[in-house]
Amino acid sequence: MNFLQGCDATCPHCWERVELTVDTSVAEQSYIEDCPVCCRPLRVSYRTDGGELVDLSVESAD
Ligand SMILES: [Zn+2]
Repeated sequence: MNFLQGCDATCPHCWERVELTVDTSVAEQSYIEDCPVCCRPLRVSYRTDGGELVDLSVESAD
């Protein structure tokens, strides 16, 4: 079973659409990732329930 799921988000720095890959085998996770468009840091937080993504937020991590 593949627990990696792609999802779209909007970068809070440049407002470009970015594609994230989340691991839905973990219930909750938060990490820092650089925006692929403007290279500024994003704080990605998400929650899953039973392998389904239920909440995703992307904030500035400056
Ligand atoms: Zn950006």
